[in-house]
Amino acid sequence: MSETSKPKIDTGTCTGCTICVDECPTSALDINEDVAVLARPEDCTGCGACEEVCPVSAILMD
Ligand code: SF4
Ligand code: SF4
Repeated sequence: MSETSKPKIDTGTCTGCTICVDECPTSALDINEDVAVLARPEDCTGCGACEEVCPVSAILMD
């Protein structure tokens, strides 16, 4: 995984549960219109925590 990896969120699969938003150590994610979005990509470290906690596997690190 490169240092520039960023989460890609499948908006069709995301349930808007907010788990990833709560889990992100840099608060880079938000919920917008009931789906998760990478609202602050400049704050994302590419740690992959959001991908790990998503219960419906809507996040893939790219
Ligand atoms: S990869 Fe890490 S820093 Fe980036 S949005 Fe997910 S949890 Fe936050
Ligand atoms: S954890 Fe998964 S389902 Fe929940 S808001 Fe994040 S991307 Fe959507």
